[in-house]
Amino acid sequence: MAGSDELYNLALACRRCNERRYNFTMGIDPQTQEEVPLFNPRQQQWSEHFAWTADGIKIIGITSTGRATCNRLDMNDEYHANGFIQTSRRFWTRMGVHPPQEDRRLENEQ
Ligand SMILES: [Zn+2]
Repeated sequence: MAGSDELYNLALACRRCNERRYNFTMGIDPQTQEEVPLFNPRQQQWSEHFAWTADGIKIIGITSTGRATCNRLDMNDEYHANGFIQTSRRFWTRMGVHPPQEDRRLENEQ
């Protein structure tokens, strides 16, 4: 396979994201239907591609790459897992530990 297992090519990920990304490096931007590269945490800045909804529950892709990655990894559990991640984020937000301070937050729901 193309991807190297050397440390320089690895990124820390939770099991769900790792399994959903599988060996995909491309995804479809749901807004344009174009195939674009998925977000690469080794080469790109999270805040340039993603923002949180105002309530901190959903990750919104703000670029083609961001949207394609949200979709491919189902980062808001809209297609799998009964919304488990949204329940967790709601809990973490109530505890005041989420979303990360440095992340962008949108003004309005989308
Ligand atoms: Zn994850």
